Amino acid sequence: MCEIELPNGKKKLVTSCNYPIREPIKVQTHSDTVNNHRKVLAEMYLGRWPNVQIVQDIAKKCGVTESRFASELTDTNPNACILCGRCVRACKEFPLEQILDFAGRGIKRHMTMPFGGVDEHCVECRSCEYVCPTGAIQITEDRNHPYDAIMIRDAGMKINAEMATLDDKENRMRQVGTANIVDVMDQYDLLPCHNYKFGSLPDAKKIYCDVFRDNFLTQGACDGCWLGCSMACSKAADGFLLKTGPYKGHRVTVDGPEYETAAGSANMGCFDPEFVLEFNFYCDTYGIDTISMSTTRAFVMECFENGIITKKETGGLDLHFGNGDAVLEILHQAARGEGFGVEVGQGIKYLKEKWIKELGADPQFLNDIGMEVKGLEYSEYVTKESLAQQGGYAMAIKGPQHDEAWLIFMDMVNNQLPTFEDKAEGLHYFPMWRTWFALQGL
Ligand code: SF4
Ligand code: SF4
Repeated sequence: MCEIELPNGKKKLVTSCNYPIREPIKVQTHSDTVNNHRKVLAEMYLGRWPNVQIVQDIAKKCGVTESRFASELTDTNPNACILCGRCVRACKEFPLEQILDFAGRGIKRHMTMPFGGVDEHCVECRSCEYVCPTGAIQITEDRNHPYDAIMIRDAGMKINAEMATLDDKENRMRQVGTANIVDVMDQYDLLPCHNYKFGSLPDAKKIYCDVFRDNFLTQGACDGCWLGCSMACSKAADGFLLKTGPYKGHRVTVDGPEYETAAGSANMGCFDPEFVLEFNFYCDTYGIDTISMSTTRAFVMECFENGIITKKETGGLDLHFGNGDAVLEILHQAARGEGFGVEVGQGIKYLKEKWIKELGADPQFLNDIGMEVKGLEYSEYVTKESLAQQGGYAMAIKGPQHDEAWLIFMDMVNNQLPTFEDKAEGLHYFPMWRTWFALQGL
């Protein structure tokens, strides 16, 4: 029904939805030729699918109430597939799956999953069901087990459309995941480098998101969040060769890196992307949080650089910023329950108290450089100019963790909270929204 007539007396009918426009053109959408052609098509549709509501509606618009084309192909099912192709496009553009397509030719043409079976890669996002104009697709399973699947589906379609049209130009979450924020934070002087001393360093470009995308990332991975989410921001690197630890020499799949892991590496002065992935893998494998791990080690490194601790305390390890081998060794020690790693594994609050008491360290200095509140290490952002993010850290029960307090982007990047009132309002609704988010299992 999308026929149009081309200009310049060509009298040529084309389908507007897939006609390539190479220069500005004028088209006829309701010429006599177009209208007559649509009428015939409407009659053919009505002949084949006489009881499908949308076919009846279109035919009526074209002034057609009866068809001369009834045949053995006539399908009286009111929910018959009319081969419009909307589901094929939705599956390709929203969940990026390409599971649905047409098969067969001529009168045998039909919409199907590969080889006519049920494809296990279908994530039950319901996009195809939503866009189908006839009700031919009805999804009966939903592995997300939502309370109201249709409500969630309908609300999600707006986000799906935004992801499909905007993400590649803006956040690129579908390409690189949350690691895209490394670039943004570095450019806005918010990327923690060398234990939050700097918000940006030239070396940070070595761990920009494109480095991971172009050299390591091989797949989107499901992180146990909402199946069928069209953002699909979780990424993974297959076949990564480990250089240290109990799996040295093995090729493994690394789930990540997320922004916080890459930024935490910058905080330790480690700008080698292979270090980021190795650190990421072993933290995951040992069940250790990359944020607390990075922030604590960044603190320990600054203490080492300032002579608070020496190789005597570290068991011979040189802990200057950037020594990734030493960071990994402490990580393995912590997992094995040995050496300096065990001590560092207790976290910043413990280390501050111990080194003030046992080494006579200056409490003021350690409190200045030991980035923890309520016993929890800071997330990976330079927050000193963001009152909103700091307020969030103070108000969150668990301490300075970004889940309930992630206002830094609105505050410092988008400048959406310019006044005290705006920041206060952000601190009012954002934690509630994130708590709701978590309660829904999203
Ligand atoms: S439910 Fe989603 S993934 Fe499955 S076929 Fe439909 S659009 Fe594709
Ligand atoms: S199943 Fe629905 S959306 Fe897909 S081609 Fe058929 S009518 Fe169109």
